[in-house]
Amino acid sequence: EENHRESLMIVSGFAAKFFQESMWETDEGKSIGLSYFKERGFTTETIKKFELGYSPDQWEAFSSHALKEGYQQQFLVESGLSVLRDNGSLYDRYRGRVMFPIHSFTGRVIAFGGRTLKNDKSVPKYVNSPESEIYHKSNILYGLYFAKKAIRDEDNCYLVEGYADVLSVHQAGIENVVASSGTSLTVEQIRLISRFTKNITILYDGDAAGIKASLRGLDMILEEGLNVKVVLFPDGDDPDSYVRKVGTNAFKKHIDENKKDFILYKTDILLKEAGTDPIRKADVIREVVESIAKIPDSIKASVFIKECSHIMQIDERSLLSELNKMRLAKA
Ligand code: ATP
Ligand code: MN
Ligand code: MN
Ligand code: MN
Repeated sequence: EENHRESLMIVSGFAAKFFQESMWETDEGKSIGLSYFKERGFTTETIKKFELGYSPDQWEAFSSHALKEGYQQQFLVESGLSVLRDNGSLYDRYRGRVMFPIHSFTGRVIAFGGRTLKNDKSVPKYVNSPESEIYHKSNILYGLYFAKKAIRDEDNCYLVEGYADVLSVHQAGIENVVASSGTSLTVEQIRLISRFTKNITILYDGDAAGIKASLRGLDMILEEGLNVKVVLFPDGDDPDSYVRKVGTNAFKKHIDENKKDFILYKTDILLKEAGTDPIRKADVIREVVESIAKIPDSIKASVFIKECSHIMQIDERSLLSELNKMRLAKA
């Protein structure tokens, strides 16, 4: 109930303060956490705005401090900040990690992502808060609190994969950016965005996983009746690494020049995979029409059919009949 949720939010806010103090005010925090963020190119302004922090590399630094301050064990455990041992004592979930607080829609801290500083494949790169009464990760977009005004003003939302991507793109002056961090994109997240804009531009990582996720995201966004564009980055780059490599202006230019509407994007990728094989080319056409069939607005769909016919050099009528077949099959 409401009191319970409030207690979880209070303890999360307390933890965010603790991680910030641990970063700005201790030697360990300054030399390890803060210098990590600075080396990644984040400015003091960005670090403060997003309330980034550092968790000391000890087993109980946070938990024992929180207990001493009177926070109840129940909320420390439910928020995922502390983990209960068999012997009844608590240890810290986040140790020696840089901390990214996740904010609610109204700016309250409700969860964390913690990134390891070790270059060791056997430790998970990110540890995230577990689901709780205040944190349902399928309903949360990282950065939305800081982005919502710009999303409305720009009438567009950039969607990225990770925490660092949000920070770097935001810092580059593109503030209408959010991430579906920790999950693949969900319908609830798309509906959240649709409260502010009907236009989404996907900026996923330029690797096989990013391309696969973008194709999946694209179909979900179409099904929700929103408009979607996609920008690909060179293989091995994500928005964060790319903006750092080329700078803000070239980054914006890259987005403007490589922004593709979903038909162009999908045909491009699939045709590249299909090569010259005519049977596989026919499969590509069917797949693209399948995406078009997901668009609820039939006038919009017919505009895309026209575009598809032009790009693929296929008779518009045969595409339309394919579209109608798919619509009937779905109904
Ligand atoms: P960085 O730039 O800090 O190395 P990234 O954001 O580029 O990180 P990716 O591997 O591209 O990392 O992953 C994208 C996002 O997926 C991350 O920001 C994080 O939210 C989530 N993620 C990555 N690895 C894990 C993991 N092991 N457990 C949970 N979530 C993860
Ligand atoms: Mn990736
Ligand atoms: Mn990255
Ligand atoms: Mn990445």
